Amino acid sequence: MTSIPLFKCCSCGRCCSQIRGFTSESERQFIEEYGYGKLPLIQLVPPQEMTFPLWDFEAKRFKEYEKEFNIDAQIKPSRGVFDLNSNRFIVFTYQMNTQDACPFLEENGKCIAYKTKRAFICHLFPLNRSPYLKLEENNYEGLFGSCHTLDQFKEKFNLNDKKTLIRQLHQSLGDSLLNAIQHDYIMEWSNNIIIELMKQNKIKPAVNHPYQFLKKRIQNSEHMDLTEFLIEVGFKTREEINQLIQNFETLTQAKEILREDKIII
Ligand code: SF4
Ligand code: SF4
Repeated sequence: MTSIPLFKCCSCGRCCSQIRGFTSESERQFIEEYGYGKLPLIQLVPPQEMTFPLWDFEAKRFKEYEKEFNIDAQIKPSRGVFDLNSNRFIVFTYQMNTQDACPFLEENGKCIAYKTKRAFICHLFPLNRSPYLKLEENNYEGLFGSCHTLDQFKEKFNLNDKKTLIRQLHQSLGDSLLNAIQHDYIMEWSNNIIIELMKQNKIKPAVNHPYQFLKKRIQNSEHMDLTEFLIEVGFKTREEINQLIQNFETLTQAKEILREDKIII
């Protein structure tokens, strides 16, 4: 296997200075086709206005940082399910609605929240948002973000063999890869949760309603975070949710996936 240099982030902050409009073409197409009411998960923000997604439990933390650092990051729901049973919007993800740069990025290029627990998306640079669990050989669109350090040896990665590529990414980028995989895992987990909740008649998602009508209804309805909703409807206890979030944040499932693939021991 070709030896890949160890990636060393110089903390220049460039990747945090452009958090808007980085949606890949395939993601944009998916959202256009299914995000506006054809599927239970409803998109509230058009692809060109999307910034970094924050899971509900991450958004909760960032709202605290807003107060702590006196920053208005305009954190708003970006994706969720409208439940016709309870007439509520269940928020899966939020996003910061600011200009191009992340509001937590200081003028000197440093992250003001660097010493705190941040979000998956903050840790996966220099990788880009991408479905790592579904990496298809020879189709690595949007795999790497724009990073001048990685650009110096990007061509050394073997794009012809998925297992070798994952091994090389882990060898060079370590936790960035784990964060990307974990982020994907949570995405799959949240999609499966919708199916489970429907099976147990705990939600009745609005599907195939005219989007503008639905959006208005969402704006006028009560909003509730997914994790809180799961507790309220008895799908999980608070202890289970806390444990789940802890497992997510310690990258437990990402490590298991790499262990199963024999990438790590
Ligand atoms: S990942 Fe790259 S662009 Fe982002 S801070 Fe590190 S070196 Fe800079
Ligand atoms: S919170 Fe910090 S690390 Fe995360 S995107 Fe913003 S500036 Fe970058």
